Amino acid sequence: MKDFNANDLSHVVEADRAHIWHHLMPHKSLETTDPRIIVEGKGMRVWDQHGKEHLDAVSGGVWTVNVGYGRTEIADAVRDQLVKMNYFAQTLGSIPGSLFAERLLDKMPGLSRVFYTNSGSEANEQAFKMIRQIAQTRHGGKKWKILYRDRDYHGTTIGCMSAGGQDERNEQYGPFAPGFVRVPHCLEYRKHDQGWGDLSGEDYGRRAADAIEEVILAEGPDTVGAICLEPITAGGGVIVPPPGYWERVQEIVDKYDLILHIDEVVCGIGRTGTWFGYQHYGVRPDIVTMAKGVASGYAAISCVATTEEVFDTFKSAPDDPMNFFRAVSTFGGCAAGPVAALKNMEIIETEDLLRNTQAMGERLLDNLHALAERHAAIGDVRGKGLFCGIELVADRDTREPLPEAQVKAIAADCMQQGYVIGASNRSVPKRNNCLLFSPALIATADDIDAITASVDEAMGRVLS
Ligand code: PMP
Repeated sequence: MKDFNANDLSHVVEADRAHIWHHLMPHKSLETTDPRIIVEGKGMRVWDQHGKEHLDAVSGGVWTVNVGYGRTEIADAVRDQLVKMNYFAQTLGSIPGSLFAERLLDKMPGLSRVFYTNSGSEANEQAFKMIRQIAQTRHGGKKWKILYRDRDYHGTTIGCMSAGGQDERNEQYGPFAPGFVRVPHCLEYRKHDQGWGDLSGEDYGRRAADAIEEVILAEGPDTVGAICLEPITAGGGVIVPPPGYWERVQEIVDKYDLILHIDEVVCGIGRTGTWFGYQHYGVRPDIVTMAKGVASGYAAISCVATTEEVFDTFKSAPDDPMNFFRAVSTFGGCAAGPVAALKNMEIIETEDLLRNTQAMGERLLDNLHALAERHAAIGDVRGKGLFCGIELVADRDTREPLPEAQVKAIAADCMQQGYVIGASNRSVPKRNNCLLFSPALIATADDIDAITASVDEAMGRVLS
């Protein structure tokens, strides 16, 4: 517990109630309860307006604060930079922009350029525009279509929602942009819905990827220019692709001359125990977008990283010297972003957090498997590094999803106990049956055990 000034904070609560439009929140619920204000954070923990301590198992709610709260070294570096030089548009250069790009690309063999943006959605939008412009300059206007996958999410703008694989989330916002075409998901646990129930492991993985080729052939290979995929699907239910999947995707990308755009907004910068999620699978992306963990929420920054080949398309069109990427991002020029990102990366390296993520990720997965032996409602356990999920079912045989109200009740019980865990796709009621765990990369064995113990207790109470 912490002792905060109750008077100051009661005013804040009232201001929140009167003026804040919370993200992803059905506001009706705030008619009967107070909004929760997070006042302080340190390491893995946050404190609310009542001084109550919570162990944060979701890194700031949406898998962002990779290096944990209260990092004074990042705050100090940002402050020093801001008083020296806070902003100039990326039409010109900056010291932290150059230095972070160099350091970042050192972790991404094969990629050599960075375009700075502010959010995951914006990074993906800019990547889609690059792909469209490449279709014009390289392919004479052909190959304009972009493939995306069922259950993947790429952002909140209309363009990103056009590539959104979560129908329920999109329902009220159409019409969407043309030229985005869906391919099937690769969640083996739900293979029966796809008609591939007799396949498993690598056979299922290759089948799910073969389906991409089928879509390309149906659309016409000369119309399809790119595929955008999450390396491990995040909000769609922590879907770790089965063996064989990514190898086959790379074969298809090569065969049909596609741009491989990997959305690392969640997995990028350590979340899965490697710098990037795609690095588990040996694939060769042309474009990689990243956001959340880039500066762990200490500044707003996202990036589009590309190969030199992609970049070259924009600088050398012999018949059109004015062929360049006609895009700007105002706050892509804010120096706080790359400075925070540099320190963030330095912390991950000096504290050996990738190794910790691998070790603690294994512990988390082991604990969740042990929980599955105690609770029949856990139908599937999935994850890589400190990014894990459990899929909850009403019946293990039919795999009928556990009703959303019960999933939420488990998360709420954990919150009551002082643990913040995630329930996937709060805006996707029909598939909101996963609990998500993505603690900061600094998590200790005690933290991991405490998180899973709280879920054990909550499930016991809610489902008894
Ligand atoms: N891509 C993925 C995989 C995401 O999970 C998200 C956000 N949850 C986004 C893109 C969009 O990022 P932002 O909210 O920063 O726009």
